[in-house]
Amino acid sequence: MIGYREARALVIARVTGLGGVLETEAVPLPEALGRVLAHDIVSDRDYPPFDRSVRDGYAVRAADTRPGAQLKCIGELKAGDTPCISLSSGSCIQIMTGGALPAGADAVVMIEHTSREGDSITLDRAVKNGQHVVRKGSEQAAGGIVLAAGTRIGFAEIAAAAQVGAANPVVTRKPRIAVLSTGDELVDFASTPGPFQIRNSNSVSLGAQISLLGGEAVILGNAKDSLEELRAKISTGLEADALILSGGVSMGKYDLVEPVLRELGAEFIFDAVAIRPGKPVVFAICEGRPFETQGKPVFGLPGNPVSTMVTFGLFVQPAIDILAGAEPPPLPFVQAMLTAPLSERPGLTHFLPAQISWRGETAYVSPIAWQGSGDVAAMAHANCLMVVPAERERIEAGEAVHVLMRGFC
Ligand code: AMP
Ligand code: MG
Repeated sequence: MIGYREARALVIARVTGLGGVLETEAVPLPEALGRVLAHDIVSDRDYPPFDRSVRDGYAVRAADTRPGAQLKCIGELKAGDTPCISLSSGSCIQIMTGGALPAGADAVVMIEHTSREGDSITLDRAVKNGQHVVRKGSEQAAGGIVLAAGTRIGFAEIAAAAQVGAANPVVTRKPRIAVLSTGDELVDFASTPGPFQIRNSNSVSLGAQISLLGGEAVILGNAKDSLEELRAKISTGLEADALILSGGVSMGKYDLVEPVLRELGAEFIFDAVAIRPGKPVVFAICEGRPFETQGKPVFGLPGNPVSTMVTFGLFVQPAIDILAGAEPPPLPFVQAMLTAPLSERPGLTHFLPAQISWRGETAYVSPIAWQGSGDVAAMAHANCLMVVPAERERIEAGEAVHVLMRGFC
């Protein structure tokens, strides 16, 4: 059985190999949050556009400065002012943060390092050429790439785009990800279940995970564990850019997802990964519907809700990134110190719901008591997953372990 790293690499390689390119659209910048840039954003001019003072103080010639030097203040420049006076030796100009350095000046002395009497400014120290000045074009040259195509837009990217006036960036359309839960026992989360029925939580949690990744969830509802219903609903799901099924991939008599996918001509890339929760996870490529030939990624995630969430993070997330035109980031592991000894069956990599906390700068992690992969409440109380490597049977308190922060899935 393959490990999770290999399985994730297979997803990345195969989905990349499909080579499908989503259509693009221009969106108002504030709505671009979470979307993936389809075109580079280039700088409309040099940044900063002028030699900019980064302190409140006096614009000077560095060569004039030394402790005790006296300079004559000949004017004032605030941010936004055009610097029309130029500086000659022995003089200085009061300048505010964000102001443009006047001709002849090459440095700024902080106001804190001066004393003033009338027009006479006494320095208490020397400054070097360029000190407290950010040179024109040093952050970004005109025409240079500020944000490359494939970048996912977060708040800092929005600021970078805003700075260069990219008011309507071109992004890929949201990948449409079909979500189909399976199981005779399931009822809609908004209804009252019978005594032996359960509410469908996977469709909504998957929908939420897809939205957080900038995708558009196409919720197809639930399929009963019957060949006919699965055939019909899986075919509908194959009209989307990718299909995620939950449940029906284990060894039970009514686990019919794999037989139906096989019947529909799916190429199975893997149908088990050495992890817990999530071992029976399936990844296949299936021909699109109705008249498409291009392969579509299909994920059969185990139905236990924590398995569904974890396998989404490990395997579906990179696929959605690639569909949207972004490079999947590596799994964001963090190191933390285990607070109590722990034993797990070796052979599978375990991803255990856990709580990470910090004392000072040191991270500590404690697994949460849980009843296994059906324990949704435990997952909701966790803020991370603790990773127990497949070869470890026991980990002692105080050992460093790897943690995946919530938000990776
Ligand atoms: P399965 O993977 O179909 O064998 O389901 C494993 C367990 O997860 C069973 O206890 C199911 O009732 C439960 N389960 C399956 N699908 C869902 C779902 N959509 N929402 C909540 N629980 C589910
Ligand atoms: Mg089932």
